[in-house]
Amino acid sequence: MSNQKTFPEYKSKSGWNALLPAREANPALEKDISVDVLIIGAGWTGISAAKRWHSLSPEAGIALIDASEIGEGNPGRNSGFLLEIALAEDANPNQVDKMKLCNQLTASTMAEILAEIECSGHTVDIAKTGTYRAAASEVGLKSLQNYRSFLEAAGLEYESLDRSTLKSRIGSDFYQEGLYSPDCYLAQPAAAIRALASLLPESVQLFENTAALKLEQQSGGWQVQTPNGIINARKLVLANNAFSKELGIGRSRLVAMHTYAGLTPVLEQSVLDDLGGDESWGLLPTHRLGSTLRRTCDGRLMVRSMHSYEKEAPRGKIIGELQHRLEKRFPQLPNSDFEHCWGGAVGFTFNGGAVWGEFKPGLYVSAGCNGGGTVKGTLLGKLLVEAAHGMTVPNVPKLFGRASWMPPEPFRKIGYKLAASVESRQGRHEL
Ligand SMILES: Cc1cc2nc3c(=O)[nH]c(=O)nc-3n(C[C@H](O)[C@H](O)[C@H](O)COP(=O)(O)OP(=O)(O)OC[C@H]3O[C@@H](n4cnc5c(N)ncnc54)[C@H](O)[C@@H]3O)c2cc1C
Repeated sequence: MSNQKTFPEYKSKSGWNALLPAREANPALEKDISVDVLIIGAGWTGISAAKRWHSLSPEAGIALIDASEIGEGNPGRNSGFLLEIALAEDANPNQVDKMKLCNQLTASTMAEILAEIECSGHTVDIAKTGTYRAAASEVGLKSLQNYRSFLEAAGLEYESLDRSTLKSRIGSDFYQEGLYSPDCYLAQPAAAIRALASLLPESVQLFENTAALKLEQQSGGWQVQTPNGIINARKLVLANNAFSKELGIGRSRLVAMHTYAGLTPVLEQSVLDDLGGDESWGLLPTHRLGSTLRRTCDGRLMVRSMHSYEKEAPRGKIIGELQHRLEKRFPQLPNSDFEHCWGGAVGFTFNGGAVWGEFKPGLYVSAGCNGGGTVKGTLLGKLLVEAAHGMTVPNVPKLFGRASWMPPEPFRKIGYKLAASVESRQGRHEL
């Protein structure tokens, strides 16, 4: 076991959650309990797994624990892109049939998420806004071309955009070229995960501020230690992303990669008037070290960029660099101050494949969605539970990849540093 904590503790609050009204968290676990199923991690994957387990086994006693609070933890820290189709790095124009099936599964999962959010009665900013993808340099243009080939091969709609059209839409002439694809929703992620959690069946006991500290296999199931209580469970589902490795599962395949976001205050109307014609949009980089951008419907800009290995970088450095990246794209901003700036951990795998399946008897894991796990995590959490019930499910490793092996420390970190420095040099104009 490494010296890392078994759960994330972030330096800053989630900016998205801070914009919402206060929410009363469910109580933490304060005593020992026994359940049929314990799910660790109440995020996109864990909430989906809990709902599916309940629908397939309504009589099962299910507990769902999270180290943080709904909306404040990692699931509410992302940029809010809910993709109905493959991510740029997953898109493969040479495997169109496989990609079409992935796209179908992802699109139907997105439809379920949307229906649930609507049914929750929560007010969530979510709309099928589509997404831009744009490239600033040769390296980015190559990836853009690959993505365009994938969209064409898969028969998906898109619109090519040159620098001036992009500028007229989003107010930035940073990018040489781009495209617009309609198959993406943009959401306020903390509001979305709160809405999804609100529909957990009553029989699912949700304990917030309850971290799993240690797992132990016992005869007839699993024992999980939390700060103030032990949980005995016949079945155990790990839906805690990169931190499943700190509980001893997927250690040779997962890394907690931290990435960061900054959100401006609501901008003055005169500033917004100089930011192109689209009032709400999102832009994903074509290079994986590039920056994600959003203009929210209430008139803020968000930038997501930078990575650090296994721990959060110093806050001052992050704020300065994110501001610099925003200014490069929007030199017309009078200032690039943020109202909120925060980090989150992505479950990174070397080849982008998932850590998914039954790893030990009665212990199921779905982790490692890399940079796009909102919709994909929801899908893989549901499929994991269906597989645990013996149902025939699509071949997840074949469709979404199986996480490849990574060397142990310190070689892994050295490898990461080398690869990151080469990629940052190659993609320096996309940063
Ligand atoms: C800044 C940022 C921007 C991103 N942007 C996007 C985007 O726009 N679109 C997209 O699809 N993806 C995005 N991602 C990735 C996305 O957030 C993840 O892929 C997604 O949240 C994965 O969902 P999950 O439920 O599998 O895991 P997580 O969201 O990581 O949830 C895991 C949960 O487990 C809990 N947990 C961890 N350890 C323990 C423990 N020991 N005990 C109890 N609970 C524990 C955590 O508190 C957390 O709530 C982004 C990520 C970051 C950090």
